[in-house]
Amino acid sequence: MIALTVLSGVLAGCAGSEATRAGNTALPTVSGGPATGPATGPASPSRASESGPPVLAPGPGGLTPVFERRADASGSRNKVVALTFDADMTADQGPRAAAGERFDNPGLIASLRRMKVPSTVFMTGRWAQEYPAQARSIGTDPLFEIANHSYSHYAFSSPCYGLPTVAEAGMRGDVERAFTAIRKTGARNLVPYFRFPGGCYDDASLKALAPTGVTAVQWDVVSGDAFATDADAVAEQVLDGVEPGSLVVMHCTRSAAPVTDEAVRRIVPELRERGYRFVKVSELMRG
Ligand SMILES: [Zn+2]
Repeated sequence: MIALTVLSGVLAGCAGSEATRAGNTALPTVSGGPATGPATGPASPSRASESGPPVLAPGPGGLTPVFERRADASGSRNKVVALTFDADMTADQGPRAAAGERFDNPGLIASLRRMKVPSTVFMTGRWAQEYPAQARSIGTDPLFEIANHSYSHYAFSSPCYGLPTVAEAGMRGDVERAFTAIRKTGARNLVPYFRFPGGCYDDASLKALAPTGVTAVQWDVVSGDAFATDADAVAEQVLDGVEPGSLVVMHCTRSAAPVTDEAVRRIVPELRERGYRFVKVSELMRG
């Protein structure tokens, strides 16, 4: 019973949290226009940022900036939307993967390719280690860009849906370790963006990550794909929520989001029918 409770808590932190966190944060976010230029600091993925992806200027006090959606697109003719997929695997889930649990979702990636949907995958370092061939394949396909979802998928502020917590002194290292693990697979399309596990952050974590030069990326549309069993309900929620400039959070993890592929296959044609164009986060941020 205890084990089951812990298990569901970790899973909730892994994916469920990201289905409920948007809009709940009372923390300040930076939603101004993008500031181009390379990220600073020795830990930044400087090659990626220098070659194109925009990053936001630091927030007040030098805090890591936070991007949620394109700020100025509401009501405009510029109907763009970014689908993002969190490739969740937590540092302590190795034994479960070894026992057959699948944290990947190759069918979803295949669907995105078939429908030619540019998208951003927020990958944990642990996921990249478990699925290096898939990480490399995603990270060498120009249709995709890979962003950082931490190495451990532990919480960067507490409480966070029962996730174990990363000590403040270890936060920067956890993010750097993820970039290293992802690069080690041969993935090249990395962007200097970071999504907090569970979307949980505070000023201390924004400060701790400032030297990495990442821009934190949240979302404005919750897909509700975590633990969903009804693909149509997920699709409806996204279709109801998307506005020009929206950023949608979904998952690339069969274990915790089994109907995402099916939902996406309905969402994509319907949004295109409405005149939307799919873009990666880097293009959404570019404005
Ligand atoms: Zn996650």
